[in-house]
Amino acid sequence: MQTIFLLDIDCFFASVEMALHPELRGKPLCIGGKRGSRGIVACPNYEARAYGVKTAMPLRTAERLLPPDAVFMPGSHRVYGEYSERVMEMLYDFTPDIEQVSIDEAYMDVTGCLHFWNHDPETMAMAMKERIWKKCGLRVSVGIASNKVCAKIAAGVQKPDGLVIVPHGGEQEFLAPLPVEAIPGIGIKTTPKLHALGIRTVADILMRASDGLPVPGGWLGRYLHAVASGRDTHVMQYGRVEKSISRDTTFGRDSSDRSFLESTLYYLTERCCKTLRRRNMEASTVTAKVRFSDFTTVQKQMTLVAPSSDEREIFSAVRRLLTMLHPPGRTVRLVGTKVSRLSPAGNSQIDMLKGEKADQLNKRLDALREKFGYKSVQWGITHALGKEYQSDTDGYRLHSPVYEM
Ligand SMILES: [Mg+2]
Repeated sequence: MQTIFLLDIDCFFASVEMALHPELRGKPLCIGGKRGSRGIVACPNYEARAYGVKTAMPLRTAERLLPPDAVFMPGSHRVYGEYSERVMEMLYDFTPDIEQVSIDEAYMDVTGCLHFWNHDPETMAMAMKERIWKKCGLRVSVGIASNKVCAKIAAGVQKPDGLVIVPHGGEQEFLAPLPVEAIPGIGIKTTPKLHALGIRTVADILMRASDGLPVPGGWLGRYLHAVASGRDTHVMQYGRVEKSISRDTTFGRDSSDRSFLESTLYYLTERCCKTLRRRNMEASTVTAKVRFSDFTTVQKQMTLVAPSSDEREIFSAVRRLLTMLHPPGRTVRLVGTKVSRLSPAGNSQIDMLKGEKADQLNKRLDALREKFGYKSVQWGITHALGKEYQSDTDGYRLHSPVYEM
């Protein structure tokens, strides 16, 4: 029997803003646009929802519903992407089997890791919730069950800051009283059709089936029946692990200073490699990217002698690529680095001894930084970035991190 968590960050965009600006807590808050602007609400916080504001409602309507002290903000996908990344990275401390389904949602198969937590999923989930709150200032809701759909439904019944555990074998009982629209995929189109058949709760699905009355046929009927009886055929999609990992950043102001470009690229390489090591992966191909002030973008890639997750090794490739890409004096607005052709760590035959040493060192450094903050161990090359960027325990706060390349 599997134990699956579905983790969902509560009111994600609004919560990030409240974490960054604690003075917003307690006030109705809408992310999506400034007051008086056109467009729709991307994310209201719970205080705004209490006034009837919903996601995708026109901002103008939200303004009419909310009191004058309500706050409207356009929001920043850059910052949300960064927070999402931080939370998702934290999940890997609990299990390697993660399927991220959206910016603020992930399934975790914790079956093989529960023994670290005395076989108690509740202790594990509480520790995880606590860590995310402490490190990111975000509350999350967690549903725990023996399958994905049931975990997802469980996460939805108690929000915010929820924790709902469906005991193994208790799936049917848990689901029975819930309205059919609690089932993922049953939306405003399907719900009235089911109501017309007299199906209002999950229990009705099984009841009608056992009475030989029509449930919708085909795929929908099979799906509803499987969900209602606590069987769910959705398997975890670990395969979605990236084929590459990249980090780039647009500068606050353009720069032609080669040593600044190198420092920034070193920092970005460190970030890529940390993620690689966290996932127990190595990369065979390294790419560097440069966007000049006139928006011309160039990139070049190189194959490593042996797969690696060592930033010094990977950066030496990045530096060589940068020399080829960047004519001295030309101003640059963005640099990026990417590692690809990923494979599980430790499979490489070449230079096993040297590789192992570097690997141990890096893992020890990662652990130190995790405990005492990024700056507890820092190489000279990234030190200069302190003049350009502010930092926190996780590292520098780049002007603009972007995660694709
Ligand atoms: Mg959410």
